[in-house]
Amino acid sequence: MRINSYYLSLIQEMGDPIWKQAVPDSRELEDREGMVDPLGEEKLSPVPGLVHKYPDRALLLVCSECAMYCRFCTRKRKVGRPEMVITDATIRAGLEYLQKTPAIREVLISGGDPLLLSTARLEEILCSLRAIPSIEVIRIGTRVPCTLPMRVTENLVSMLKKYHPLYINTHFNHPAELTPEARQACSLLADGGIPLGCQTVLLKGVNDDPETIRELMVGLLAMRVKPYYLFQADLTRGTGHFRTSISCGLNIMRSLIGHVSGMAVPTYALDAPGGGGKIPLTPSYNVIGKGETDFTSYLGQVFQYPGEKG
Ligand code: SF4
Repeated sequence: MRINSYYLSLIQEMGDPIWKQAVPDSRELEDREGMVDPLGEEKLSPVPGLVHKYPDRALLLVCSECAMYCRFCTRKRKVGRPEMVITDATIRAGLEYLQKTPAIREVLISGGDPLLLSTARLEEILCSLRAIPSIEVIRIGTRVPCTLPMRVTENLVSMLKKYHPLYINTHFNHPAELTPEARQACSLLADGGIPLGCQTVLLKGVNDDPETIRELMVGLLAMRVKPYYLFQADLTRGTGHFRTSISCGLNIMRSLIGHVSGMAVPTYALDAPGGGGKIPLTPSYNVIGKGETDFTSYLGQVFQYPGEKG
């Protein structure tokens, strides 16, 4: 486990949503149903530390540590553990793979958390990626704006902005994480021209109710962070007590769609167990009718639209 002093300071009481994300729970040891590698990343790794799942995108793991360790982490089999070996040699091997695979146009650098690397080391990696002509877009996956926002400095942003088009997907799970410090970190990044998205995980006892998710999504948008995904929890071993039903997620989506700005509505998605990729989960607004299709609006009113001709 790891909790830094900033994230620790957000805990108000034992068992609150910040506590649950950070403090180990004995139920982690009782879950024998989950999978060690739920997204099948190891078998999708042509070289250690690089996951190539979709034809034109790849994931490059560049750091084995995070600012705090989330109890629900999909990569808890290795993040922060000696099993996660990331060295100059593994990163070099990843870069070589990217170089000889021009179909890859977008690279997500993640870990662990890339923003825990020194600015100079991160720049070396970004610079090497930019030297590969087939790579158009670089994305960084980082929880640092939420869990250690003071790491986002003007110096870091001046370095990052040299490598556009560069996107950052961050990860907030609860409105209590939208602090002045987090707001400042996101402002610095947005002022550097870096589009920010958020990947939230739906977690039982943390954020599995419409009001909490609504406050989070609207609050993120006001911080210039576009809610991108709301993930159904992966089937990771040791995280079963966090898992909600899919109907819970669909109900939450119903409470968002139409009721808040479309900009604040993420895509609710399931990452298919075993590495099948993301599957969007959308509440159904259509009711199969007689010749025409009926649709319900977000307020439950019924509308018709003609079926296909011919
Ligand atoms: S920050 Fe991300 S990679 Fe790190 S422990 Fe949390 S979920 Fe896992």
